[in-house]
Amino acid sequence: HNCVVTVTPVTIGGAPGAAVVIEDSSGLEHAERLRRDFVANVSHELRTPLTALMGFIETLQGPARNDAAARDRFLAIMQREGNRMNRLIGDLLSLSRVEQEERRRPSECVDLAALIRLACATLAPTARGAGAALVRIGTPERAEVAGDPDQIQQVLHNLIENAVKYGVRPGAEEGREVRVTLSHVPHEPVLRGPGWAVEVADDGEGIEETHLPRLTERFYRIDSHRSREKGGTGLGLAIVKHIVARHRGRLKIESERGVGSRFTIILPEWQASASRGDRPRR
Ligand code: ADP
Repeated sequence: HNCVVTVTPVTIGGAPGAAVVIEDSSGLEHAERLRRDFVANVSHELRTPLTALMGFIETLQGPARNDAAARDRFLAIMQREGNRMNRLIGDLLSLSRVEQEERRRPSECVDLAALIRLACATLAPTARGAGAALVRIGTPERAEVAGDPDQIQQVLHNLIENAVKYGVRPGAEEGREVRVTLSHVPHEPVLRGPGWAVEVADDGEGIEETHLPRLTERFYRIDSHRSREKGGTGLGLAIVKHIVARHRGRLKIESERGVGSRFTIILPEWQASASRGDRPRR
């Protein structure tokens, strides 16, 4: 630890003494280092697509000015790079919004079962495009949790999209399944009470154990090239972690190389007595 010790002579009840102040600045320095790393990462992530865009603009103004085929190809790349910047800015805004609200615990009555049905319906075409089927397991009619519906929707979206993106083993692109299971947890120690668990499981390559503790860090990717190729921003799981923390819930990541991965969130069950009698918004 980085400590500053200040000793000041004082008089206590007429007798000489000393006041000793120990200031530990390690926590502050660590926070400052994280902030600096984050700013550097954001700048780098934004500069990469921007450099590509500027390069193509120059080419279109110069050598490719009269080449229609090249222009179409370059415009398609520029659109992809622009979309990448847009997604990154969207995720940065989501992250900062969740961080700002982290102390305020959301207490709306939300039907998790309906949100799972919605997320699966929304992502079914993307999954089909990747040769995977989204399978819902044990989804009861209703599963009421205390939360923020938009943020829970984002968590489900990020986890299912990741399973579709990364849950593929080379040579097994067809006939894949991403299983979304909803189940009741009578007592979850971390929640100190009952909850509902959503498990998103894939049969992909799995993740090395050494990566697991760092997976929810901002911009942490196992394979940056693959993540970028699949349109990832490196912020999806950081957003999931913050949203789950805001809900005083639990996030579990389990994975085995060559077998697959399982991401589970457990959210507190909605207690009618603890709330103001709200009904589910969705
Ligand atoms: P990204 O935008 O890169 O997808 P995330 O924060 O969502 O960022 O995920 C971080 C990294 O975790 C990904 O780049 C990927 O390497 C890994 N990952 C996430 N989900 C899975 C999964 N279901 N299977 C294997 N790896 C995964």
